[in-house]
Amino acid sequence: QANSNGEDAEVNVQVILRCRPVSKQEKSQRMQQVVKCCEATREVTVTQQIANKQIGRTFTFDRVFGHEATQANVYDAAITPIVSEVLDGFNCTIFAYGQTGTGKTYTMGGDIERDAETSLLGETAGVIPRAIKQIFETLESAGSEYSVKVSYLELYNEKITDLLGICEDSAEHQLCEDGRGGVVVRGQEEEIVKTSEEIFEVLERGTARRKTAATKLNKESSRSHSVFTVTIHIKETTPEGDEMIKCGKLNLVDLAGSENISRSGAKKERAREAGEINKSLLTLGRVISALVERQSHIPYRDSKLTRLLRDSLGGKTKTCIIATIAPTALCLDETLNTLDYAQRAK
Ligand code: ADP
Ligand code: MG
Repeated sequence: QANSNGEDAEVNVQVILRCRPVSKQEKSQRMQQVVKCCEATREVTVTQQIANKQIGRTFTFDRVFGHEATQANVYDAAITPIVSEVLDGFNCTIFAYGQTGTGKTYTMGGDIERDAETSLLGETAGVIPRAIKQIFETLESAGSEYSVKVSYLELYNEKITDLLGICEDSAEHQLCEDGRGGVVVRGQEEEIVKTSEEIFEVLERGTARRKTAATKLNKESSRSHSVFTVTIHIKETTPEGDEMIKCGKLNLVDLAGSENISRSGAKKERAREAGEINKSLLTLGRVISALVERQSHIPYRDSKLTRLLRDSLGGKTKTCIIATIAPTALCLDETLNTLDYAQRAK
């Protein structure tokens, strides 16, 4: 985190907490609520009943959103500034992290249905469609020459599937270093899009593909990560009349359910097994801790996800983790695991 004199400005990890509303089902079962969010103090308190005592634990984050927060509230307060950085030529990554069923997909994607006449986004539209809108509105109003590329990948058990690929089979893609600090996915489709309309089509195609692939291969979708990447090049002319190209990249990542790593973390043998299932999720936590603690070795190479995102994590980049939790007592253990993980990233 940047301190008051700006010295630490290069480590830039922001952690946001979002607690979803009680679902209809939870309401009908009268499940006990154990989470209290306070947006003003940026605190979340979880109350545990141990013996006859109520024990509360309070966590503080960069921002806290409770059940009444809308998609627009979350986007406008936390995401708009990050997308502006991308348009200024930085690489940024936004992750949704949390237990399955807590709102990761809702927060990132949500409803991408738009009004056919006005093309306006629905209220439930999440981070991805709102980011697309912000990017194109900014580019179109600036009047500079630009190009926008998208890719959409899925990672399951350390295997990469290209959700935009031409081949229907989910051929496995290899990662190779590009010699400039980044990596390329061999054979990956990158679509050039001209308008927000085109990018929405690509997004819809990839998302539909993710769903059918999950059913066909009997994959548990809670164990896969999806990475939607938008790369922007903007041609600018300096006051001296020189041309320069500004390049920014935005990665929007819907992570695998965190219950896949945390619950078995207690036992060594099982932790190893779970590590195989979700090496990427474990490594991401280690990479972010290493960046925040300024360790000299950052273990990017230990998983596909962190290799893939290497040029957008650490250095002059911005990272935002949206940790999602459920409000009920039933999810308490996982909620505390998520809060601990998110806290470590600060
Ligand atoms: P995850 O991707 O973490 O498994 P989902 O995004 O699928 O979870 O959310 C689970 C359910 O909860 C979905 O039906 C979703 O619409 C609903 N939901 C999640 N977050 C919210 C929210 N903030 N407001 C309203 N409904 C939500
Ligand atoms: Mg999901």
